Amino acid sequence: MASNHSTAGLKRPSASLDPDVESTQKHARKSEIDSSELPAVTEEALTEEEIQGTELPLDQAAEEHGPRNAFSALMGPKPKPQPKPPSTAKTTFAARNGLGAYLTDPGSFPASRVIFHSPTAVAIHDMFPKATVHCLLLPRSPAHNLLHPFEALADPPFLAQVRAEAAKLKDLAAKELQRILGKHSAAEAGRNAVLNGEAEPSTDANGTVVLPQGRDWMREIKVGVHAVPSMNHLHVHVFSRDMHSEKMKKRKHYNSFTTDFMVPLDDFPLAIDDPRRHQGKWPERPMLCWRCGKNFGNQFQKLTEHLEVEFQAWKRE
Ligand SMILES: [Zn+2]
Ligand SMILES: [Zn+2]
Repeated sequence: MASNHSTAGLKRPSASLDPDVESTQKHARKSEIDSSELPAVTEEALTEEEIQGTELPLDQAAEEHGPRNAFSALMGPKPKPQPKPPSTAKTTFAARNGLGAYLTDPGSFPASRVIFHSPTAVAIHDMFPKATVHCLLLPRSPAHNLLHPFEALADPPFLAQVRAEAAKLKDLAAKELQRILGKHSAAEAGRNAVLNGEAEPSTDANGTVVLPQGRDWMREIKVGVHAVPSMNHLHVHVFSRDMHSEKMKKRKHYNSFTTDFMVPLDDFPLAIDDPRRHQGKWPERPMLCWRCGKNFGNQFQKLTEHLEVEFQAWKRE
């Protein structure tokens, strides 16, 4: 129907199952959006703890900027006032805005946090990586970056821009994965032998050295958005598909990256009747191994043990 608003079917972060989040969000967003128009309650991806943790803690921020000795503490610029840490264990609206700091001043963060930034996007390492490599792309367009991803990515010129930046980050993520795991990979053996000087490289017709191809690391990297993001600022997850991380602690974590709750960037713009607009109780879906498809039901510990075995085999591919 022509009168349908483009947000039809969207799940907003405000529609959380956490009553505290919901009330804070409704209050804070009142002037911005009428949440009564939006469909009811669904689940979001992360836990309170992580949402708060996405903001760089005060001591860690200092550490990442380098130690401050007595001299630099006296003579250096005063540290910028930091946002107050949340006073309770409850998620606050401010905490959900934690990614905003990267957008306003990406150059103030160390390379260990910000991977690259351009006028249109900032790429960062996820603070709670759920895989061997896990980064976020934060588009900077003020007209889009507080919209729900389904709405923001429905705009073709913006989508094209996000795709271009995401492709750049995906390429870097693939190279990082190769750097970390390449030495274990059977497909890289020929290449490693040449690089280590244990084998003669071949040359092309012009006499240029040609390295053996090696593994296709790009196919190990996934790029997408959560159907119900926990953070207010638009962000695209770029991650290796192994789901091997000590930060992978809950069924909800696992399912948020391995079910269709994670919507690939390639699938945008989403059709208005795309079923992924209505997620239902996705955290309660059975956990399936990303590699072999084995069903672990709700047995997270068993899945974790299995993921370790799969990781060892996968890295040796
Ligand atoms: Zn997310
Ligand atoms: Zn498996």
